[in-house]
Amino acid sequence: RSKWEAFPINRAAADKPQTTKPQTTNQLPQNSCRKPQTTKHLAPTTNNQLPPTNDQRQPPQQQTNHQTPKPTTQPRTPKLGKTKKNIKMCGIVGYIGTKDASNTEHDSAGLATINQANQLAVYKTKGKVADLARYLQGKDTAGTIGIAHTRWATHGEPSDVNAHPHYSQSGQLALIHNGIIENYPVLKETLLREGYTFQSDTDTEVLVQWIEYMRTTRNTDLFHAVQLALTQVVGAYAIAVIQQDDPDTMVAARKSSPLLIGIGEGEYFLASDASPVIEYTKKVVYLNDQEVVCLRRDREPEFYNLQQVEKDHRIIELE
Ligand code: GLU
Repeated sequence: RSKWEAFPINRAAADKPQTTKPQTTNQLPQNSCRKPQTTKHLAPTTNNQLPPTNDQRQPPQQQTNHQTPKPTTQPRTPKLGKTKKNIKMCGIVGYIGTKDASNTEHDSAGLATINQANQLAVYKTKGKVADLARYLQGKDTAGTIGIAHTRWATHGEPSDVNAHPHYSQSGQLALIHNGIIENYPVLKETLLREGYTFQSDTDTEVLVQWIEYMRTTRNTDLFHAVQLALTQVVGAYAIAVIQQDDPDTMVAARKSSPLLIGIGEGEYFLASDASPVIEYTKKVVYLNDQEVVCLRRDREPEFYNLQQVEKDHRIIELE
């Protein structure tokens, strides 16, 4: 594997996850962010869960790579956008609109877009943002929906395969994540029993597979799959997820890790910090803890909590 190998998501398309058949006829309309008429709440599959904590991560053991952050007990402030000073900090950005979403490459070490042929492509690399930008030169990363990430490793050493975005075994979902999924071992155990396999050592790959597991076994759309999945997740997260079959939708959520939506003209932005968004729009909505937002090209954003109750949101005008 070359140092800067990309991981096009469609290469895994043949490896469908061995998930169980849908157990419910509570089918939701595809491509919809609407609340289902009837919803089932999932009980946690295990009580072997760690207590929730804030995103006060410890760096992983035995990391010698230059990207390894200095130990800290303080929550980090992701720096994105035009910030050049410290690209070792992690952050997430997302875009859905009409412009070329691959422009987000400049703020990330990993990028996923859905192209015009409706193929999800994931490019990620160990190293600095400039390395990724170099690697992406000449690649067809175009797409009007995309997510990008700079990672600060907590689980799994800094490497190409551990970089974000992570994608589900079916090749349908790609996800970026800031934070730590503390109960990832128990979720992973369940997924392994269900036939899922993993490529990385990260907690984040478990989360994207867990969402995929909910989506397929509950026969629901991405928005509800994320809500269902997160009811069983312990830890801190700011996430954004896209789905190959639904290039008009991005779903994001947060707990104990910052996340905001930028509202533009016919486009949405998503970031862990206002700095990459402010040059495009001054209208932002800060997500509350344990809220999930569905961004669709043709609709207002919809905010729900994990109990599937719709939440009001307040648009703030940045100075
Ligand atoms: N825990 C995740 C990982 O190690 C996310 C790290 C981050 O916030 O960048 O990949």
